[in-house]
Amino acid sequence: MSLFKQQSEAFSPRHIGSFGTKNEMLSVIGVESLNELIDKTVPASIRINRALNVPDAVSEFNLLNELKEKSLKNKVAHNFIGQGYYDTITPSVILRNIFENPGWYTQYTPYQAEISQGRLESLLNFQTVVSDLTGLPIANASLLDEATAAAETMNMFFHHVNRSTIKAPNLFVDTHVWPQTKALLIARGTPLGINIVEGDYKTHEIDSTYFGAIVQYPNNIGSVEDYAAFAGKVHAAGAYLGVATDLLALTLLKAPGEFGADVAFGTAQRFGVPLGYGGPHAAFFTTKDEFKRAIPGRIIGVSVDAKGNRALRMALQTREQHIKREKATSNICTAQALLANMAAMYAVYHGPQGLTNIAKAVHATAAGIAKGLAEAGLPVETSVYFDTLYFKADAARLKTVAEAHNANFRYFGNDFVGISVDEVAAANEVATAELFSKILSGYSGKNITVAITEENGVLASGNTYNRDTDFLTHPNFNTFHSESMMMRYIKQLENKDLSLNTSMISLGSCTMKLNAATEMIPVSWSHWSRIHPFAPVNQAQGYFEMIQELSAYLSDITGFDHCWLQPNSGAQGEFAGLLAIRNYHINNGQSNRDVILIPISAHGTNPASAVMVGMKVVVVKALENGYIDVEDFKAKAAQHSANLAGVMITYPSTYGIFEESVKEICDIVHQHGGQVYMDGANMNAQVGLTSPGFIGADVCHLNLHKTFAIPHGGGGPGVGPICFKKHLKSSFMNVTDADTVNTDELLTSHVSAAPYGSASILLISYAYIRLLGAKGLLNATQHAILNANYMKARLEKDYNILYNGANGTCAHEFIVDLRPLKTTSGIEAEDVAKRLMDYGFHAPTMSFPVAGTIMIEPTESEDIAELDRFCDALLSIRREIAAIENGESDKTDNALKNAPHTQFEVVNSEWDHSYTREEAAYPLPYTRNNKFWPSVARVNNTHGDRNLVCTCEPVSSYMEETVEA
Ligand SMILES: *Cc1c(COP(=O)(O)O)cnc(C)c1O
Repeated sequence: MSLFKQQSEAFSPRHIGSFGTKNEMLSVIGVESLNELIDKTVPASIRINRALNVPDAVSEFNLLNELKEKSLKNKVAHNFIGQGYYDTITPSVILRNIFENPGWYTQYTPYQAEISQGRLESLLNFQTVVSDLTGLPIANASLLDEATAAAETMNMFFHHVNRSTIKAPNLFVDTHVWPQTKALLIARGTPLGINIVEGDYKTHEIDSTYFGAIVQYPNNIGSVEDYAAFAGKVHAAGAYLGVATDLLALTLLKAPGEFGADVAFGTAQRFGVPLGYGGPHAAFFTTKDEFKRAIPGRIIGVSVDAKGNRALRMALQTREQHIKREKATSNICTAQALLANMAAMYAVYHGPQGLTNIAKAVHATAAGIAKGLAEAGLPVETSVYFDTLYFKADAARLKTVAEAHNANFRYFGNDFVGISVDEVAAANEVATAELFSKILSGYSGKNITVAITEENGVLASGNTYNRDTDFLTHPNFNTFHSESMMMRYIKQLENKDLSLNTSMISLGSCTMKLNAATEMIPVSWSHWSRIHPFAPVNQAQGYFEMIQELSAYLSDITGFDHCWLQPNSGAQGEFAGLLAIRNYHINNGQSNRDVILIPISAHGTNPASAVMVGMKVVVVKALENGYIDVEDFKAKAAQHSANLAGVMITYPSTYGIFEESVKEICDIVHQHGGQVYMDGANMNAQVGLTSPGFIGADVCHLNLHKTFAIPHGGGGPGVGPICFKKHLKSSFMNVTDADTVNTDELLTSHVSAAPYGSASILLISYAYIRLLGAKGLLNATQHAILNANYMKARLEKDYNILYNGANGTCAHEFIVDLRPLKTTSGIEAEDVAKRLMDYGFHAPTMSFPVAGTIMIEPTESEDIAELDRFCDALLSIRREIAAIENGESDKTDNALKNAPHTQFEVVNSEWDHSYTREEAAYPLPYTRNNKFWPSVARVNNTHGDRNLVCTCEPVSSYMEETVEA
């Protein structure tokens, strides 16, 4: 083989950690070849036996060049479109140390609080920013985007309202709410039987048929309205008020909590998160105390650890929405943690004064342009505005002039035009003044000089809209304003968190694989990052090409005809796919088909999403061996035959098994007139070997943030595209796939706020597929299965492995049953999880799909040395448990029950445990080389839930002294 040919396939061994040690691992498993292992694991009846139709692998160097060239087909314009998306300046210290830093972007969701204190603090900062600016006490740590946050508001009100007083499920939506928000409210409200009633809040009668109302502040045409009287009317009718709002504007404007809002929501994008052609960005959501147990998404709260020291954690976890399954009112799982962290850090870095100054500069710039508009005979229509000017013009002519100067305005129709000013335009006020002088002179034929001055930077003084309350007074927002201090603060938090740059994170069902640097780099390039989602399509040709190619690859990989990339999380994909099934039946005149069969072992988002599309969930049993109970399944399909919408299955199953019966199950559902939905979270065991389409499914979602290398971000971002067969196509309102891109109609969105959801990170999955090529993708799947079986082989003599496949193998993950140990030693799964931290590891998935177990998924990216260290840690822990079982160790005072051990505790002069300090902190030799210290001892969950605190308390943790070990 020539050197040069190897170069193009050089990425596979970089990505696949066990590439070179295959034979050694196979012999531990006890099989002759990788093919034999795969044959034993994946039933012949479902093997595709053809090569994937994706291009051959390309080298990292060449791919970067190619993506650079493609990016230049996108045009970076001066954007004044607004509508929820604003160009912003990401401080370089945040760009480099968070956005481009695997210590921040490879983290898992902070379920293991003791090794997540850094991002938990940052997310607490995020909640504090949101809470302070909106004037409402309880914020969550992000939702997916502004429009879905509106839908979550609607759902929460709908389920919270006193139904006995509300006559019909009507939601009022003011006419001046973003159009994408209105579209999404209709898409999400309709399946629940909610009527979205649009009107003018000033005149609309809110009677007892309404459970809620949504207005925007400042609104769609930029006007700052006084909603105090309206809030009174809404509350008098027994309904609740949701206010869509803008964090930057709120530095100058009265907080929604002060005029009666029950919820305030919006996007934090303009706090330093790039446009990225629509995402990803963090949405925020904040509310009153009354709703604290009904809030969608994750809330970070303050608690204490086992030593009584302050410790952070995700609060109210038992109420996490999707855990409620079919009783859930939201399906939010992955949100936008990384982007929430960026927005929080933007506020930390600028501080309250800096943020206010940016807001004033934005307003002053808008005011300067407004004067120019007046001179040009285009007076602004609204009396109080923040950043958006709304006026009437000869729109076609203005558009021609503006586009000649590379400027995008917003065109509302009927000759109304909007100009929204962002941080970039304000920071370049001289260039912006010049730009508008040229455009307005060109348009009017007069000689107009636009002047932007600081004096314009105050909203008319003394009016009722002005903010008169402080915000961000906590030291975290008033300390780190020099770059040195900021860099250290970010690093200090990073050091508290275990990420993939410390050790493997073997989370079953979450596929924490390598997020290669080459895959990540293009996301920061301006020709990808600075494109507005509502820019004219001819400015986004690079995106269209990439999206078209990626859609085609994913369609082929899943064995389907189409792929739709809009959903911005797996759960949103579930919603979209199930909605397509629901619409398909309705379009066929069978609206009665609303029963969905879901196995008991399904991920909690499955039943939650089904309920959100108005389906009725019927649970299917599992057998002792973890397989779907086919008899129960058949009986239930027959029982509900006339009303069967379909089945929702995960394959290989959530137990990590390729069940032989899957084709039969698909056939039965089809015979009863139903459709098959496949949860694609376990696609990493399928790529190149089999596919949902080949197996017989009609639609599936993928988690690009699992299988296709988008990093987990500490709980988001993600992308959850839907792949589906032809017959479902007309059930989507606006499918953006290979055949339909480039048409204007696709700009109406309905599952996410932006037409292509989190478009910029599609680049990561695109790069992943191109770098591996057809052969590399297949190899990755084979090695994911190899790695899992290798670990299983090393562990199964000492631990009880649940649910083997027919030939004794597992797929890409396996379940270790710890329940028997509880009886013999009192040790529970949680103790093992916490003890793993002392060994430098993040726990595998806990108690899913079976309580009292851990589920290990090593992925293809880990090499044998790392797999061995993890196995060694688990085997050493098993010996520690044996010592308790045989009475050598104390039942309560042992290294497991007391885990994890902090550095402060171990070096403390007092040590009164029955085991040594060395056993506590350096249990195996490898830990001396790479010791990771949990920054707090075991976190007390109940304390935090009983005393819910979810914003920064008066003392900065940065300066706080730990008092007691
Ligand atoms: C991760 C996962 C989901 C949900 O995906 P999100 O992106 O977190 O919404 C659904 N099903 C399964 C089996 C999963 O593992």
